[in-house]
Amino acid sequence: MASYEYHCKDCKATFTISEPISKHTGRKRPKCPQCSGHRTEQLFSSFFAKTSSKT
Ligand SMILES: [Zn+2]
Repeated sequence: MASYEYHCKDCKATFTISEPISKHTGRKRPKCPQCSGHRTEQLFSSFFAKTSSKT
């Protein structure tokens, strides 16, 4: 199981989706839990930002 961060372009909400890596294609966009919109995009920023904020 891995978590993926998404950002909704409609309501500006950020949410995390947990799904098995094998199931994650990166092409299918989940719908926003807040506004049920499909204009979501995956965030990769947390992937890079993690190292600097820890220490
Ligand atoms: Zn939304």
